[in-house]
Amino acid sequence: MPATILDGTKIAQEIRVEIAAEVRDLAAEGLRPGLAVVLVGHNPASEIYVRGKVKACEEIGISSEKLDPPESVTTAELLSLVEHLNRRDDIDGILVQLPLPPQVDAKKVLLTVDPAKDVDGFHPMNVGFLSTQRPGLVPCTPAGVMEILKRSNIPIVGREAVVVGRSDIVGKPAAMLLLNANATVTVCHSRTHDLPTVCRRADILIAAIGRAGMITREFVKQGATVVDVGMNTITDPREFQRFFAGNAKREEAFRKKGSTLIGDVHPEVADIAGAITPVPGGVGPLTIAMLMFNTVKAAKMRRGSNVREPSRR
Ligand code: NDP
Repeated sequence: MPATILDGTKIAQEIRVEIAAEVRDLAAEGLRPGLAVVLVGHNPASEIYVRGKVKACEEIGISSEKLDPPESVTTAELLSLVEHLNRRDDIDGILVQLPLPPQVDAKKVLLTVDPAKDVDGFHPMNVGFLSTQRPGLVPCTPAGVMEILKRSNIPIVGREAVVVGRSDIVGKPAAMLLLNANATVTVCHSRTHDLPTVCRRADILIAAIGRAGMITREFVKQGATVVDVGMNTITDPREFQRFFAGNAKREEAFRKKGSTLIGDVHPEVADIAGAITPVPGGVGPLTIAMLMFNTVKAAKMRRGSNVREPSRR
C-alpha cells in the first residue's frame, strides 16, 4: 500500500490560522508583534526566502521590517545594527538571513542577537534551553517536523527515531526535540557505519542531509514514517530521469523550468513507508509557519502577555 502523504502545506495553513487568531487577541491588548529581517546583499535564494517571510507576516498581522545592508558590510556595522534592534521595544524577533558574506564573522553576529528575540533559535542560550527542556525559542525547521508528526498523530513515545544529519540548524535540534518527546533517538552523519542498517531500525526516519534522493528503499523499514527535510535542486536531465521517469506532472514542470526540487529521500520510498512528507509541500511550508509562531511567542514572553497558548501546545 502506498504511503500516506503528510501534507505540510495544509498543516502549515492550520498553524497560520491559529497564529493569526492569537495576533488578533494580542491586538486587543494593544500589542503588535514585530519581526526584523536582516538581509545582506542580493543572494537570489535569500531574497526569495525573505520575501516569503515578509509576506507571511503581512498575512498574519505581524509587523515586519526588512533591513538590507550592502554586500560590503563589516562585522562591526552588522553588530551595531543588531544591537540597535535588540534595544528597540517594538521589535520582538530578529532574523539574520544566512549565508552572510565571507568578510563577516557570522558566529559573532548570531551571538549578539538578544536570546529573547532569537526567533531562529540558534543562540547558544536557546540551544541550552532546548537541551534542558526549559521554555525558549526552538529552531523553526525541526519545530515544524515535530508539528507534522504530532498533528498527523504519529506515535513518538518509546518509538525508534533515527535522524540522518547533525547540523546545528536541523539535525541536532530535531534529535533533541524527539528525545524530549520520549523517542529513542539515534543521530547519524557522514561517518556512520552501515547507514542503511541503522536507518532500518527507525519507526520515524528524519532525513536532513542535503543529498538528492540518497535515502532509498533499503534504508527504510516497511511502514515507517519518513520526514524528508532535504531541499535539493536538480537540473541534469539524466538525474531527473533516474528519480522521476514516468512522472508526467514532474516531467512537464521540468521541461518548462529546467529544474526541479527533490528531497533527500528517493521517490521509491513512498512504496514502502507508512507515511511520508513530500518535497515540495512537506517540511518547507512549516519553516515559515514556525517562524511566525516564534515571533508571537517571543512577543508574549518578552512583554509578559497573558494571552492563551495555542490549543495544541
Ligand atoms: P548541513 O550540510 O549543515 O548538514 C548535513 C548533514 O548531513 C551533516 O551532519 C552531514 O554529516 C550529513 N551527511 C552528509 N552526507 C552524508 C552521508 N553521505 N551520509 C550520512 N550523513 C551525511 O545541512 P543542513 O542540516 O543545513 O540541511 C540539510 C538539508 O535540509 C539540506 O538539503 C537543506 O537544503 C535542507 N533544509 C531544508 C529546510 C526547509 O525549510 N525544508 C531548512 C533547512 C535546511 P557530517 O556532520 O558528518 O558532515
